[in-house]
Amino acid sequence: MAKKLQAVRGMRDILPEQTPLWQFVENTARRVFQSYAYREIRTPVLEMTELFKRSIGEVTDIVEKEMYTFEDRNGDSLTLRPEGTAGCVRACMEHGLLHNQVQRLWYQGAMFRHERPQKGRYRQFRQLGLEAYGMEGPDIDLEVILLTARLWKELGISGLELQINTLGTPEERKAYRVRLVDYLQAHRDELDEDSLRRLETNPLRVLDSKNPDMAELIAAAPSLMDDLGEVSRAHFDVITAGLDAAGIDYVVNTRLVRGLDYYSRTVFEWVTNLLGAQGTVCAGGRYDGLVEQLGGRPAPAVGFGMGVDRVVAVLEELGFNSADNDPHVYLVLVGEGVQTPGLVLAEGLRNALPGLRLQVNCGGGSFKSQFRRADRSGARLALILGEEELSRQQAGIKWLREQREQISLSHDELANYLKDMIGE
Ligand code: ATP
Ligand code: MG
Repeated sequence: MAKKLQAVRGMRDILPEQTPLWQFVENTARRVFQSYAYREIRTPVLEMTELFKRSIGEVTDIVEKEMYTFEDRNGDSLTLRPEGTAGCVRACMEHGLLHNQVQRLWYQGAMFRHERPQKGRYRQFRQLGLEAYGMEGPDIDLEVILLTARLWKELGISGLELQINTLGTPEERKAYRVRLVDYLQAHRDELDEDSLRRLETNPLRVLDSKNPDMAELIAAAPSLMDDLGEVSRAHFDVITAGLDAAGIDYVVNTRLVRGLDYYSRTVFEWVTNLLGAQGTVCAGGRYDGLVEQLGGRPAPAVGFGMGVDRVVAVLEELGFNSADNDPHVYLVLVGEGVQTPGLVLAEGLRNALPGLRLQVNCGGGSFKSQFRRADRSGARLALILGEEELSRQQAGIKWLREQREQISLSHDELANYLKDMIGE
């Protein structure tokens, strides 16, 4: 027997009952991004594999084991994007958007990672994110974090924890690396397999381990804070002082190193305790070295990526009520020759009332069956156009969810009568 067709493991269908919540998140984010003068950029979902290897870093979970990589028909190695930053930087370099310029850009779209699917962790998931280029001072780091705080406010999400840290400069990290390696070597026998490997290739990554058995060891590791130079220290202090001044709560988590290689100085995450182990809903920071690493002229950069799937899950946990998706009005059409005039009447109403959700009964049916459909559609009101109404240029109005007398109005009066329903 043929194999039953179904969605690829870890990739979900978002059904019509759920999409209003997604749209709410996406629309709110777009509004907030625009209120800080960010502009949208759209890049392909496929990039050359080399881009991700060179940007994210060879010794990361993503590049080591999570990428969807394949050869196309020409034998080129391509990868479905696992995150948005690399493609954004590539596009900006390719189109000369970074040279002597400040850019504030946002993006959204599907990302792909071959991970073990579980709540809040999927193989296709959506991110909304932004990138700010050309600004090296801490003011933009602070503004980006303030923007994320505003996003939660506008979404009606409270109770997220902001964790911040600094990774210093590459030189400072080098000094820290020596101390960290000494410490990890001294505890070699307590390291798991992943960490032993990372100890050789990328020891800071050990701090990023999700293995609970490693938690104690990681908590006791030396802190990079002690290796910070004056400039990095001052950079970080401006951000913490700014958050204090703006009244945004945060915790400094010196173990926060982020899963990607390209960060420098500021890193931050917003974390929830509502989703189990998949607690990070938004993560970002400064990545001043990346543009140069990819062959461009050095350009400072700050950004973040937000996991839309997880933000939607948080809203569901908080009992958020999906924005209304149902039609306001259902147009019942019964009789000879009423179908086309009905569609034309509906066009006129849509012209007059932007925002009106009007469902026309297509496909005929008796009065009874059309009213059953009207009821099931969730509409509050049915408009009725039969042969008799049509001949008098009128339509019947029947409220479906409340006790009100059925009335008739002329076609000209309808828009005025219906206008109060919109926006409710
Ligand atoms: P995690 O530690 O949970 O694996 P990460 O450090 O790999 O996260 P980033 O690369 O920083 O995640 O991506 C930014 C955000 O995208 C995450 O904070 C999360 O909200 C979301 N995200 C990452 N991977 C997934 C996934 N597989 N499914 C759903 N959302 C994801
Ligand atoms: Mg991950």
